[in-house]
Amino acid sequence: MTFRVLTAELSHETNTFSRHSTGRQAFEDRYVLFGQEAVAARGDANTELAGFLDVGRKFDWQIEHVVSAAAGPSGKVEGAAFEWLAGSILAVAERGHFDGILLGLHGAMVVDFCEDGDGELLRRVRAMCGAEVPVAITLDSHANVTRQMCSLADIVVSFRTYPHVDMRETGLRAATILQATMVGDIDPRTIRVGRPMLEETNGGRTDAGPMIARLAVAEEYEKHPDVFAVSINAGFASTDAAEVGPTVLVTGQGDFDRHSSFANSIADDIWARRFETLNEYLTVDAAATLAARFDPGEGPLIVADYADNPGAGGYGDSAALLGALLERGVSNACVAPIVDADAVRVLSGFDVGDRISLELGGKVDPEFGGGPVSIEVELSGLSDGWFVGDGPMLGGLRRSFGPSAVVRVDDIEVLIVTVAQQILDLQQLKSFGIDPERKRVVALKSMHHFRAAFEPIAGKVIVCDSGALCTLAYERLPYQNVPRPIFPLDDGPYEHLSPAPRANSSAPLY
Ligand SMILES: [Zn+2]
Repeated sequence: MTFRVLTAELSHETNTFSRHSTGRQAFEDRYVLFGQEAVAARGDANTELAGFLDVGRKFDWQIEHVVSAAAGPSGKVEGAAFEWLAGSILAVAERGHFDGILLGLHGAMVVDFCEDGDGELLRRVRAMCGAEVPVAITLDSHANVTRQMCSLADIVVSFRTYPHVDMRETGLRAATILQATMVGDIDPRTIRVGRPMLEETNGGRTDAGPMIARLAVAEEYEKHPDVFAVSINAGFASTDAAEVGPTVLVTGQGDFDRHSSFANSIADDIWARRFETLNEYLTVDAAATLAARFDPGEGPLIVADYADNPGAGGYGDSAALLGALLERGVSNACVAPIVDADAVRVLSGFDVGDRISLELGGKVDPEFGGGPVSIEVELSGLSDGWFVGDGPMLGGLRRSFGPSAVVRVDDIEVLIVTVAQQILDLQQLKSFGIDPERKRVVALKSMHHFRAAFEPIAGKVIVCDSGALCTLAYERLPYQNVPRPIFPLDDGPYEHLSPAPRANSSAPLY
């Protein structure tokens, strides 16, 4: 039997504190690819779509791929942009007769009229297709998973790596479970448990720390014949929404009391180890001091500006770290990116080699990440901002920073761009003439994804908090919608959970 399957990818991680709302242009700046155009660009890369297609070929599905669309993390999605993209999916769903629906979502999308954008899309798909058609979704492990999402999707499968390098594998896992459901071999549904936290303490990183053991236990539990997927989501702290935070999901059948107690055992561990921070978050001054005396014998010092990560909705325009590096006269360094469209416009009126005075960065909201730096730069190059990734996350995928410039100030090269992107691939520097392997110090805007491509070339990695929008000082953010009390904003009371918080005191479960 040939199954007809509707597939689509629609991804947005909404930082509700961002001043930039997310409209149609923001999606077009990242990618909006319909039908075969999406298959050509993403069908054989490390994407959820590629995993869907792998399974589709294996079982001879008739696939109708509607759209692949994503915007960079930013403020609430504008209703018109949501209607445009959701509408394209619903228009195809309306034609009907699909045996299954397979959607690649992020799972932290807030639309300006609705706190649960992913759930709203699923609600409309269900309204169109009915209760009987199996619906499978994939999620980023930084999803804030709502009850609505789990009640509307039968199958939910999240990434299992951070840095995320298993997009294709996740798509493949979800599609395989959908196949078994369409055949009638299984009858899955998904349960969810959470804890009152803004996010898992280390953002769900899987290269170190307690997540490694949690995932091993999850994979062991998946060997049970009634368990099809266990997903451990770190959550996304920059979404001010009622259902924020880490969740554990079980997609299964049969004994849901047992599945629930299993999910709770992992959630308890996330809660119990909430004080176990893996990173040391330096101030920009402390980071620059280390940079000034760093010996690059074994490769450059990578300095990650965690708080200004465009990959979590940071503006990417904080110049605080650049300013600190300049103040200490750090040599042979680079900083990428500073998002400043006005500066790029000014620079584009000059020639390579010209010297120009700039007020760079710090313009969107100086309360978060400081104001501009006043510098005199030498223009090294101008670009349309396109690059093709070659690392584990973006290999083969084409992205753009929009109009961009490289400038030199003292002995520091700076990549100035129009469209915010976090740095997670060496080609984001190399394509613009900056060779990170030859630098003594590489300062970049990213929380953790950079590690996939930059740790192999790094002599050492340090992380700083510039006080920008994704700062760990959560008390600076005007949360209104998250349930209270919530960790780490509140001391409690959390009577129903583990007792008195004491740093690093809790015994690990695994
Ligand atoms: Zn993520």
